[in-house]
Amino acid sequence: MTFHPIEVIQHKRDGQGLADQEIEAFIRALVSRNAENPTPTDAQTAALLMAIFIRGLNPQELAALTQAMRFSGETLNTASLKSFCVDKHSTGGVGDKASLLIAPIIAAAGAPANQEDAYSLSDPMISGRSLGHTGGTLDKLETIPGFRTQLPLDEFLSITRQAGFAMAGQTPTLVPADRILYALRDHTGTVESPYLITASIMSKKLAAGLNALVLDVKTGSGAFMSKYEDAQLLARLMVETGERAGTRTVALLTSMDQPLGRYSGNWVEVMECLELFQHFSPDFAFTLPLERLRLSSDLLNLTHALTGQMLYLGGKAKTPDEGSALSHRLLADGSAYRHFLQMVELQSTDVAAAIAAIAQPAAFHKPAATRSIAAEATGYLAAMNCTEIGWAVQRLGAGRARPGDPVSAHAGIEMHAKLGDRVLKGQVIATLFSEEPRLLAEPEQMLRDTLQISPKPPQSIPLVREVLRKEDLR
Ligand code: URA
Repeated sequence: MTFHPIEVIQHKRDGQGLADQEIEAFIRALVSRNAENPTPTDAQTAALLMAIFIRGLNPQELAALTQAMRFSGETLNTASLKSFCVDKHSTGGVGDKASLLIAPIIAAAGAPANQEDAYSLSDPMISGRSLGHTGGTLDKLETIPGFRTQLPLDEFLSITRQAGFAMAGQTPTLVPADRILYALRDHTGTVESPYLITASIMSKKLAAGLNALVLDVKTGSGAFMSKYEDAQLLARLMVETGERAGTRTVALLTSMDQPLGRYSGNWVEVMECLELFQHFSPDFAFTLPLERLRLSSDLLNLTHALTGQMLYLGGKAKTPDEGSALSHRLLADGSAYRHFLQMVELQSTDVAAAIAAIAQPAAFHKPAATRSIAAEATGYLAAMNCTEIGWAVQRLGAGRARPGDPVSAHAGIEMHAKLGDRVLKGQVIATLFSEEPRLLAEPEQMLRDTLQISPKPPQSIPLVREVLRKEDLR
């Protein structure tokens, strides 16, 4: 049967359900560019995206779109790992460096008793770059000297086999349909569709050959889905789509009303994780002052909540709470840190320089200029627009103005107070870092405008607001 892109567009435009074959033919034609199936023009693809944005997708259509995108290119054959593969994915936040702690904890939980055996649990983590006001794991990792994030799929699997996890970027051959659709969405006001976000994220996660996936769906002033109901819909769609495809999927709805932990940026976020690893590791004579540990406690709590679910799904714990307790132990006995170091050794081209930076993370942090922001009154840190903080971090140099631009390693923000903390007039509540002094002024003003101090403490919002499993979908 001949495929006519215009008919698919008309069907969706008029609110008719699309057949699986129509969706598959459209995606196949988009990536294959052969004479038999005319490639939809950009205008046609954008029209279909807008029709989906407005009309939405029913569960069957969403499953068909996700699967068609998943199989639009190469997929990762994780069967060769002989391991249960579990990963997490966040919908994007500010200061969210939890992946850097989570993947090594999962590897430590799955570590074999002897070198000949396979990991019983592993985390092949395909990560992204900064998007809008949010940070990206790849940009953070690339601040480690010599660190490679572009790995061929066979090397990515080989590192996962050796260290229990690997962290790298999407390759050009993995889910090529998403690359095309995402670029068009970016230019046509169709990014914020929960249906298109679900298909985009889930097609990539399913192509990575996962047995289970834990989603961190952010909500609040720093999230793409700031309204709770929107985040809830996104979480439901992603859980349903993952489960339909045979991957155990759980979503946590979590607050993104302030930067997670102490630091937001690139190296500063790696540094925060390294200091936590080193603080907890018995092999390391390093202790974080209690106040600093307190400022990172939301990051640690989120980490253990997500790993708890991952370890439960991966059969390492009878309940998610038991999984969280195991996660605490793997951080405290130094085994997660040992796995992190092993992964860096395998992924860095300059292991000596990487290990030197990692051993003394604060000494490696070299911003050219810093600026302190002091509280203008005594009271409680009551509110902030976390998206504004994210943009301030990006404008200090941590983000890019155009795709492909380099990012600054040492730009970022340190928060010295969390929402609800009592602060005194004149007390420093934030420090800004940049590698270019001229970049400090605008972010400084943005922070001054958004950090609100009030005589009354704000209502506290729980970090994990809801856990959504397939049993909760009705
Ligand atoms: N991240 C993705 O990978 N895709 C989206 O559509 C949104 C966030």
